[in-house]
Amino acid sequence: MKELKNGLGIRGDSLYCPLSFTLDTYGNCLTYCYHCYFRRLNHVWGNDLKPLDIELFRKKLENGIKNTSPRASISTAIHNRNTIRVGNKTDPYQTVEKTKRVTRKALQILKKYHWDVIIQTRFTENLMADEDILLSMKANIMPVISPGLDRDWEVLEKGATTPPMMRLKHAVHLQRKNLNVGVNGEPFIPGFHTVKDFEDIIKLLKTCKIKSYNTYNLHLNDWVAKNLHHIGLDIEKIWFMNQDAQWKKILPQLIAIAKKYNIRLGCPDFVNSGSYQEDSNTCCGVNVKKPTTFNVVYWKKIMKKTGFSYSILEKSWDGIGDYEEGKKLFEGKKPGMYSLKDIKEKGLFK
Ligand code: SF4
Repeated sequence: MKELKNGLGIRGDSLYCPLSFTLDTYGNCLTYCYHCYFRRLNHVWGNDLKPLDIELFRKKLENGIKNTSPRASISTAIHNRNTIRVGNKTDPYQTVEKTKRVTRKALQILKKYHWDVIIQTRFTENLMADEDILLSMKANIMPVISPGLDRDWEVLEKGATTPPMMRLKHAVHLQRKNLNVGVNGEPFIPGFHTVKDFEDIIKLLKTCKIKSYNTYNLHLNDWVAKNLHHIGLDIEKIWFMNQDAQWKKILPQLIAIAKKYNIRLGCPDFVNSGSYQEDSNTCCGVNVKKPTTFNVVYWKKIMKKTGFSYSILEKSWDGIGDYEEGKKLFEGKKPGMYSLKDIKEKGLFK
């Protein structure tokens, strides 16, 4: 069986993401949720499962730790001991993990180095099999529960993942064991999910004493559009409602609801959220030990305090990503990409 040689990575959108240092323990996710925009890229990555080459992963980490003058982003992230998001393009606890135990082996290596990790999964039932190691390494846990709950589970996830109410139960259990838990609510699908769905899940989280949630609209690519159409959803309506002009009317309502129930909301859409300020050091609503900082989320935070200044670039530069590209984005010189200029124009910065 082919193995995944490059499980560690820096997200291509690191300029937008404080959890950009990632580890995938599988090269593909055999769940194939209908709304999973990452599966679109399987035409490049292939459809093989590709479990992580554990020995290579161990060596990369060990060599990275010994490297005192890193140059590339990944070596720098290892050197800086940035928090690792486990489960970026694929779910680390997808069904095959029950037999392969690749994620467990990777966590054992990370535990040896006291690495801060945040684990993102829809398969909390399988995650619970690793409770011992999660507790001993004080992992941050981010179960993904989108606002449609059981409807999403049946329609989008084909009933293949852990049922949402059980995910919530596991989240509560791990939080009671003193792990840092925040629920990831992506995606909110305008035209499919409603503001009431969102309020209902926020109320549910409140009842369960879960303190944070995050929201982002759908990454709608051709793969996802085709799937959603295929399963009978109104793709024209979803496409229309998912456009910024509509979404930016919905997002402030979601922000207001989270505020009303005192749930910390992570909001990766830094533009349409306008003057909204993250409470956490990531835009997933979860505080981690060492997020990456050369990104719009961090810049927005500093700008809120100090105003628009080029010194922000220096202050936030942590060696991860591309400084020159970041500078262009900062200045609004990257065509087709949202920048701080967009929020500046909304009157956030005087
Ligand atoms: S479980 Fe997650 S990574 Fe896997 S197909 Fe579904 S959304 Fe994508």
